[in-house]
Amino acid sequence: MSNIQEKVVIITGASSGLGEATAHRLAKAGAKLVLGARREQRLKALCDAIVEQGGEAIYRITDVTDRAQVDGLADAAKREYGRIDVLVNNAGLMPLSPLDQLKVDEWEQMIDVNIKGVLYGIAAVWPTMREQHAGHIINLSSVAGHVVFPSAAVYCATKYAVKALSEGVRQEGGDEIRSTNISPGAVATELTTTITDVETAQGVNELYELAIDADAVARAIAFAIEQPADVDVNEIIIRPTKQP
Ligand code: NDP
Repeated sequence: MSNIQEKVVIITGASSGLGEATAHRLAKAGAKLVLGARREQRLKALCDAIVEQGGEAIYRITDVTDRAQVDGLADAAKREYGRIDVLVNNAGLMPLSPLDQLKVDEWEQMIDVNIKGVLYGIAAVWPTMREQHAGHIINLSSVAGHVVFPSAAVYCATKYAVKALSEGVRQEGGDEIRSTNISPGAVATELTTTITDVETAQGVNELYELAIDADAVARAIAFAIEQPADVDVNEIIIRPTKQP
């Protein structure tokens, strides 16, 4: 039996991209999934596909900027499956633009989803993981959490914050709560569609011609989960071989 089998895994932002690919991969490995995002039709279709293939999954509409909804996602996991083994804090967006454009609404959106959403996720599962004396929090940072790119100052700031939170979870989770920070490079998902600045979008789309498949990141997440309880995989950077 793999270490993923029977684990109860919550995934935020599961309606597309990395979250969806991770759901498929973990379901095949026998995890019990609790999937959150805002687009219900996408979540329902994903759950139906997983169940059809013999997996286990439920979903709950969840906007990660709303703390009560994130708590509700954790409650749904406990109600349905009785415990929470892993939280994949994956929901995020990337409306890149030069600072000069002062797209302050988009800066706030990124802070709300990419940072506060991650914090609400941690808060929602922390007491349960403490009670269980076991748990695993996996946060999606980025290569942009290691290096700052032009037109990406605010996005990078949010992903640096996520990396800091992962390290905080590692330190303060002690020997009970494992912490994994996943830092992908260019991966083919819907993420780039959140860019409203035409020139920035053009540059990013050119870079993303070399993007790798979302399952590459799903495999990295599965690798971290399937390690035995005394092994804590803290950081994985994964990018296209061709990415400069
Ligand atoms: P997608 O755009 O395909 O997926 C993003 C997911 O986040 C969607 O399922 C979306 O669901 C969800 N989401 C957005 N806003 C909210 C919200 N307020 N509440 C709940 N869910 C929300 O992009 P990716 O799969 O690529 O992104 C996943 C994570 O990976 C992000 O954190 C991103 O920053 C990170 N990442 C991605 C990289 C890439 O190249 N693709 C590289 C590095 C990091 P819905 O709209 O239904 O709510």
